[in-house]
Amino acid sequence: MSENSILEHSVVHEYLKKKVGEEGIVVIKSFLGKEETTDEEIAKITGLKLNIVRRILYILYESRIAEYKRLKDKESGWMTYLWSINPKNIEAAIENEAKRLIRNLEARLEFERENMFYVCSCGDTKVSFWQALEQNFKCGACGGALTYRDSSLIIKAIERRISEVEDP
Ligand SMILES: [Zn+2]
Repeated sequence: MSENSILEHSVVHEYLKKKVGEEGIVVIKSFLGKEETTDEEIAKITGLKLNIVRRILYILYESRIAEYKRLKDKESGWMTYLWSINPKNIEAAIENEAKRLIRNLEARLEFERENMFYVCSCGDTKVSFWQALEQNFKCGACGGALTYRDSSLIIKAIERRISEVEDP
């Protein structure tokens, strides 16, 4: 990986931190100035345990941010894994993540818009209108009265979150 700048980008940094933690960012930074390297070399440079480095590389591999090549040593028959980071795929992974998040938020939004909920002040009960009717508008946990919960604040909060994700 040749440049540090992509890691300095706050959206990228936040995304990677959530995905692989600060240790993961340390691992990614250990690739700076290198085309490829081994997990053992990364462990040596970063001071992280080898199993932690491997776990992080595997998570990055699943998002195609990290890639590897296998090389077989002709004499010993040992396999060496040469890892590299593909910065272009960091952007793609962030885009995919944002799309997935928006899909989830939109589903939640639709659910909130289409359903009326009844709640109890004890905090244990949140049921649909039909379920509340079945229970005679009494809480199953404490027997208290179920009251209509106004969803408009939640709907606004979800809408706000969607626009934040769409336009960070
Ligand atoms: Zn209750």
